[in-house]
Amino acid sequence: MPKTFLIDTSRCTACRGCQIACKEWHELPANQTRQRGSHQNPPDLNPNNYKLVRFSEHLDNGVIRWNFFPDQCRHCDVPPCKEMGDVYHEGTIIQDEKTGAVLFTDKTTVFTGEEFEQVREACPYDIPRRDPKTGLLSKCTMCNDRVQKGMLPACVKVCPTGAMNFGERADMLKLAESRLATVKKTWPKAMLADPGDVNVIFLLIDDPENYHTHTVAQAAFGPMTKKQFLATLARPFKAMAKV
Ligand code: SF4
Ligand code: SF4
Ligand code: SF4
Repeated sequence: MPKTFLIDTSRCTACRGCQIACKEWHELPANQTRQRGSHQNPPDLNPNNYKLVRFSEHLDNGVIRWNFFPDQCRHCDVPPCKEMGDVYHEGTIIQDEKTGAVLFTDKTTVFTGEEFEQVREACPYDIPRRDPKTGLLSKCTMCNDRVQKGMLPACVKVCPTGAMNFGERADMLKLAESRLATVKKTWPKAMLADPGDVNVIFLLIDDPENYHTHTVAQAAFGPMTKKQFLATLARPFKAMAKV
């Protein structure tokens, strides 16, 4: 069984310790940013930020709500990014058999710009990014190097509130159901985001659209066959041929 995260947003204080620990462990450089009137910084995931705490402010029956969402790759059970990657360059995106971690290898530099865009679009959560300097595709690695040695992912290790949890899938599913039952007493809209499809399960206390656009899967889930992918790819070329 794969390893699984439970990210309990009811416990997240947006301290961003997880975001910083991820950068620290992976030795990712700082980004030049500017004040945009939001605590969300940088504004989006990028090759130097595999983890991003998203801040969403909205009005709920006249009350201002502030939702925090520590975004990262969901390590999908059947990863659409890998399915799409295999159409072009088989074996450049892999899934670790032991942990279930979905990994972009050093060979991902081989993707052309258009091929990378197809990989990014295949992801229901808009996670893959590309380093413009090296051409490497990038995202959360599940800290596979740490996990293989029996350690916790860096973001889980530092979280001071218990929002970040990690372990065997069966244990995390059990914890998710038990936390959901508790949280629902205070937050009736509470729900688990796509628990059957991913190995990073979010416990939300509000409607998914009140976090950010890709909180839950944006496309029909399930393994797409190569034939289906190729049919998708053929569409733009057919359209071009008609012009
Ligand atoms: Fe939230 Fe924990 Fe990350 Fe802090 S470290 S932002 S509490 S998930
Ligand atoms: Fe791939 Fe996106 Fe799933 Fe991560 S969340 S495994 S990048 S499809
Ligand atoms: Fe970053 Fe590791 Fe957490 Fe993924 S598991 S977000 S790579 S610290």
